[in-house]
Parts: sequence; structure tokens; C-alpha cells
Amino acid sequence: MNLWRGIKGSIQPFGITFRNIFRKPSTIQYPEQKRTPAPRFRARIILTRDPDGGERCVACYLCSAACPVDCISMQSAERPDGRRYATWFRINFSRCIFCGMCAEACPTLAIQMTPDYEFSKREPLTLVYEKEDLLVDHGGKDNEYNYYRHAGIGVVNPRGGNPDEAPPVDIRTNLP
Ligand code: SF4
Ligand code: SF4
Repeated sequence: MNLWRGIKGSIQPFGITFRNIFRKPSTIQYPEQKRTPAPRFRARIILTRDPDGGERCVACYLCSAACPVDCISMQSAERPDGRRYATWFRINFSRCIFCGMCAEACPTLAIQMTPDYEFSKREPLTLVYEKEDLLVDHGGKDNEYNYYRHAGIGVVNPRGGNPDEAPPVDIRTNLP
């Protein structure tokens, strides 16, 4: 029994080697050759803009609260019309684990993960990205998304008075 196991254990590895020897190698010669990651690949983070060119981020701190390694920080401020924005916004990529929790938590689709994985640096401090490094001039994965135009705006008009907003329903009309 032990002899048979010994013979099998000696032959089996050769069989596995022989089986794989004719397979197409999956190794690529990076950086001369580059693999195109899937669109959902989680790498460099960006801050996107709405279709009107405005900043989507309303500085709600949800991404910062969701981040398990605490690498997002910002300072919120308010425009005269009540819309919030981040005066500064910082991500420390030397701590980021690219989990995507921040993008999941964002209610305005402002913070998004991209497949751009080529941004490693030797100096950790150069991996601290400020708002001007993160902010892009497009809408990222969804250029049409426009919810944020209303998000963060204070109630400056009576309910139902904002553009694209229906007047509230009188609940008594729903009674039998
Ligand atoms: S990807 Fe994860 S670790 Fe990186 S900033 Fe977002 S929540 Fe934090
Ligand atoms: S969750 Fe989105 S809107 Fe809120 S602070 Fe983060 S990026 Fe800005």
C-alpha cells in the first residue's frame, strides 16, 4: 500500500507538469504588455462631476464614515443657496485597501473607483491625493446621473417648489 502511494506520488507530478506544458501561458511581460482590467476593477479613486459640470460631492462624510481604514478626510462648507461642498477633500492612498466601500456609500455617485492601477509611488506622502488630484471633468461610470443637483440643497422653496419636483400629496386624499 505504502509502495503504491509512493509510486503514485512520484508519477503524478510529472503528469500534471505534462498536462500544463502545452497550455498557453498566462504570464504577461508587464510593463511592456498590459492587461485591461474589467470596468468594475477597483483601483484609483476619482471625484466626478454632474452633467452640468458641477461637483457631485456634497461633503456628507458618508464615504469617510464607511472607510474601514480611515483614509478619507474632508471639510464641508455651504454655498449661499444651501448646497454643501467640500472645501478640501483628501484620500491617503498609502492606506487605502481598495475595498470600494466609499463608492458604495456615496449617495451622489461622486466618489468612484476606476481600473487605473498604475499609480504606485516610492514616497508614501506622494500618495496623499488632494481634491484637485481627485476631481475629474466627467461623470465617470454614469454621465447622466443627476440626483445630486438636489442633494444637499436646503429647503429654500416650499415643498414641491423646486424644478422637476412634484407637489406633495395630501394624505387625507388617500383615506377611504
Ligand atoms: S476603497 Fe476602501 S479603503 Fe479605499 S478609500 Fe474607499 S473605503 Fe477607504
Ligand atoms: S459620500 Fe459622496 S457625497 Fe458624501 S462626502 Fe463622500 S464623495 Fe462626497
